[in-house]
Amino acid sequence: MPINQSDNFHTGAALDIENRLTATNEVPEDRDNENSLRPKTLEEYVGQETVKENLSVFMKAAKARDDNLDHVLLHGPPGLGKTTLATIIAAELGVNIKVTSGPAIEKPGDLAAILITLGRKDILFIDEIHRLSRSIEEVLYPAMEDYVLDLMMGKGPSARSIRIPLHPFTLIGATTRAGQLTGPLRDRFGMLFRLELYTPDELASIVMRSAGILGTPITEEGAYEIARRSRGTPRLANRFLKRVRDFAEVKGNGTIDKEIADIALSALDVDSLGLDSVDRRMLTAIIKNFGGGPVGLETLSAVIGEESITLEDVYEPYLMQLGFINRTPRGRCATPAAYEHLGLPLPGVKDTQQLLME
Ligand code: ADP
Repeated sequence: MPINQSDNFHTGAALDIENRLTATNEVPEDRDNENSLRPKTLEEYVGQETVKENLSVFMKAAKARDDNLDHVLLHGPPGLGKTTLATIIAAELGVNIKVTSGPAIEKPGDLAAILITLGRKDILFIDEIHRLSRSIEEVLYPAMEDYVLDLMMGKGPSARSIRIPLHPFTLIGATTRAGQLTGPLRDRFGMLFRLELYTPDELASIVMRSAGILGTPITEEGAYEIARRSRGTPRLANRFLKRVRDFAEVKGNGTIDKEIADIALSALDVDSLGLDSVDRRMLTAIIKNFGGGPVGLETLSAVIGEESITLEDVYEPYLMQLGFINRTPRGRCATPAAYEHLGLPLPGVKDTQQLLME
């Protein structure tokens, strides 16, 4: 199955966040061995059971009818396997896939040029689809609904619209923020799937599988240690595995066990639950600057110097999964579990030191 990746895919400024070890968006080192680590079939794709079950029913039905699959929208935090799922769908259906992203499509003509080249039943994968501009979205509506392109030729009184038929195709859109998609675009997707953060068990099996492919010896406890610290995200699990492997080769005997995983990840400032310095700054700010909350996201973002979008898309989902913060209508609040993890006293609970001083 040829994967046709447009040249300007994966563009974007090299922001600080992209260089951080726990950043869930793709960094250049993730691309080493990426093709070998990426699952190729639904069976190899770990977790997301409901999504897989639904998808396999719809894929079977489309195959039986010799039809194109209905358009699919995948949403969820970065690194959870949206691109991987799209390539698996293409492979299972035996069709071509073209991969691009919202920011890479600058003009309506860019999208038209891609759509025209799609064959019958082919898949167009648009990552970060919420970043398409309105004028480009408008090209998508008739393309998704009626498989036609409505193009305006010329300007002013001599302008005329021409209609170009397209082959029936499938659009797979991926987004970290389904809420930012316009209603008309969202309504044109027949299937909407939300990908969830992975459990430590699921991540451990991803780590074991990847270690097998990389030929790195690993114990089950070693895999669990990496899994527990990977923030529910397969991309991080694979990235940590590669870093821990380096430690095991240089400082250990080459085998990844619990101890070497712990030494390596602690040295890389990833704590026992996978929190990095931004998570800790975020929790500490809520607790120390705002008495545990509630505090609005924008205020929090200004205090800790991280973009609010990054806090919301990348940090919050995992802190909420851990039960460390709650989202209330008035803002974010830290939970007692967060105080405990950071070793901070709960408000109203005096510590031994305070009691001795009284
Ligand atoms: P997204 O598009 O959501 O940002 P990707 O599809 O690029 O995420 O996945 C990141 C990496 O994580 C992939 O290279 C793949 O190796 C791994 N991965 C993602 N989902 C799974 C899964 N369900 N099972 C095994 N590996 C996975």
